[in-house]
Amino acid sequence: MQTIEIGAASRPEFDGHEQVRFHTDEQTGLRAIVAIHSTRLGPAAGGCRIYPYQTDAEAIADALRLSKGMSYKNALAGLPLGGGKAVIIADPRSGKTPAMMRAFGRAVETYSGRYITAEDVGCVASDMDAVATETLHVAGLSARVGDPSPYTARGVFLCMRLAARERLGRDLAGLKVAVKGVGHVGLELCRLLAATGASLVVADVRAENARRAAELFAADVVATEEIASLDVDIFAPCALGGDLNAAATDRLRARIVCGGANNQLLTAGDDRLLLARNITYCPDYLVNAGGILAIAGEVLSYEDEDVRARIEAFPDVLREVLHRSKKEQRPTGEIADDMAQAILYRPSRIDRSSPTPLDLPRSS
Ligand code: NAD
Repeated sequence: MQTIEIGAASRPEFDGHEQVRFHTDEQTGLRAIVAIHSTRLGPAAGGCRIYPYQTDAEAIADALRLSKGMSYKNALAGLPLGGGKAVIIADPRSGKTPAMMRAFGRAVETYSGRYITAEDVGCVASDMDAVATETLHVAGLSARVGDPSPYTARGVFLCMRLAARERLGRDLAGLKVAVKGVGHVGLELCRLLAATGASLVVADVRAENARRAAELFAADVVATEEIASLDVDIFAPCALGGDLNAAATDRLRARIVCGGANNQLLTAGDDRLLLARNITYCPDYLVNAGGILAIAGEVLSYEDEDVRARIEAFPDVLREVLHRSKKEQRPTGEIADDMAQAILYRPSRIDRSSPTPLDLPRSS
């Protein structure tokens, strides 16, 4: 295994990341980047994405953005965890092998617990089982939480319901929701939405995934290029990131955006465009934190019922974000960032404003 530090400071996505490293293993073909954004709140936790990136630069950019997102997500979810992420450059359908996942486990082990991995796009629980043969710093194992997506989908669903009540003054029943990407999270979200009486339109680059949603939930299927501009009430991005860019926002007709995908805003300011068009954007890392809560439950030994109760409370945080956004006329993403940063960068627990025993003059 070869490991090199990546000097990421000059990249536009760099945000003071603590460590970014490239791990390669010739024998198994592993090419992985691990980005640790922050360990201020605890060990950096975040999943592993396996994706056939066209260039190394693209993979590094994704790792930098995703790991920063994890710091904010974990902070806002009240978890004693920092933010990190791994990406493996490979096609998850043809290039992933158990040997490669074991090599990735050896890479994770080199962080001695500063980085904890789990599933993300392209990974399933059996991959994490292979990782676990080489390191203890992994969660989402088959014998434990397994696939965290149902927890993620639950949080998205609850937040979407809150957004519909706040913005449209009604429940989800009878509303039309466009779901982009019906993989693990998107399909489970469709299940919850169909059960509550919402009608569904879906799109997926994998035709068989879209077909499955159509068969299971009577969803209409449209082309992936069309899904974001349909005349629907809610748009739910559940594929990869970057769906909310300037051009796409211009074409959006939904009044609410609420989905499971990470990094929905292509650039940090893109939520300004959504505010300008009076589209209610539910910040991605707030609404999709259910999965990391389940993973944290596994790592930190929370009871499942505690994890579920914390997910049920996501709408309370979203309500605060929506109210502040309305009052201050600022984008929701910016408000969520402020709230996450206040937790992430708050002064250390030692309050230096009042004298501590160490500060008191010593009596002679
Ligand atoms: P997944 O790979 O199971 O599903 C993604 C789906 O999107 C697939 O069906 C894929 O074919 C489809 N897709 C990819 N590109 C597309 C495109 N351009 N247009 C339409 N469809 C496209 O992944 P997942 O676990 O469901 O995760 C989905 C998103 O949610 C990702 O952004 C992930 O980072 C995020 N997320 C997942 C979890 C979780 O618990 N799995 C937690 C938090 C965030």
